[in-house]
Amino acid sequence: MSPIDLGPKPHLAYANSPLERAAERRGDDGALASLRQAGSCLHYVVGGEWVVLKKTGNGLDPVFSFSEVRALADEVQPLFLGLQGEGARFGAGLDPKFAESLKAREEFFVTDLRSIAVQGLVAPDHLPALAETKALLHWHARHRFCANCGASTNISQGGWRRDCPQCQAQHFPRTDPVAIMLAFDGDHCLLGRQARFVPNTYSCLAGFVEPGESIEEAVRRETLEEAGIHCGRVRYFASQPWPFPTSLMIGCHAQAISRDIVIDRTELEDARWFSREETAAMIVRRHPQGLITPPPSAIAHHIIRAWVEDGARVLD
Ligand SMILES: [Zn+2]
Repeated sequence: MSPIDLGPKPHLAYANSPLERAAERRGDDGALASLRQAGSCLHYVVGGEWVVLKKTGNGLDPVFSFSEVRALADEVQPLFLGLQGEGARFGAGLDPKFAESLKAREEFFVTDLRSIAVQGLVAPDHLPALAETKALLHWHARHRFCANCGASTNISQGGWRRDCPQCQAQHFPRTDPVAIMLAFDGDHCLLGRQARFVPNTYSCLAGFVEPGESIEEAVRRETLEEAGIHCGRVRYFASQPWPFPTSLMIGCHAQAISRDIVIDRTELEDARWFSREETAAMIVRRHPQGLITPPPSAIAHHIIRAWVEDGARVLD
């Protein structure tokens, strides 16, 4: 197959964090409190699905000083995200309803993280810290009680652990692995669409990796369950933190070894084979029927694009 050039590769959102997580600092509450109040410390303000941005003369600013956070709310959940150069970076968790109410304030712009990434509202190197904050806050909001004995748990380790005072169990934030894959056979790839997708969008198939399952097995099982297609060789491509709410997308390419599609209608509205030329047209938004692939903020874009550009070499 001849190479197809789609131009410069876009940024993969939420990945490649500039922060050093500095996990060894998490256990010292006093040191964390000093770091948090230092002039060099910056805070990302999130409440549930809402991210609070400051309006400035030049656009939108996602970071707040300690005094700005304190002026904003009495009740803030601090999360130690890590260090960047000389300064610490913290997440500042707000009650979601309160965060939403800040939409009424002229000096703020309150929106969801997906919109921030898709529309490029802040510099890309802020997205990993926002993803870290959002995913961690989501975990805390749903793990207030001990999964072992049911008692109320306490936050420790700068937000990276919850401790049970009753049975002494320690609970750690989790991330959920999702296999997301592009199966292809020769010059055609398999794309599907869920009913909730943006109209005309076709994307990779995807599903949660189950306990006791390898990534390769999850790729083969999901492709077979959703579209009836058998896969052979599976090759890892790249991964992406996906804080909606707490997933890790594990991108793969797979060799399809059958061609007859059987759609699982509970999962997919449609699934089809697309030629490489047609897929390229979808990526650059020039498909004759207006069909499109997901935006560059999603790893699916990068998985599909790699196959269009490199063909079967993605399995090497
Ligand atoms: Zn307990």
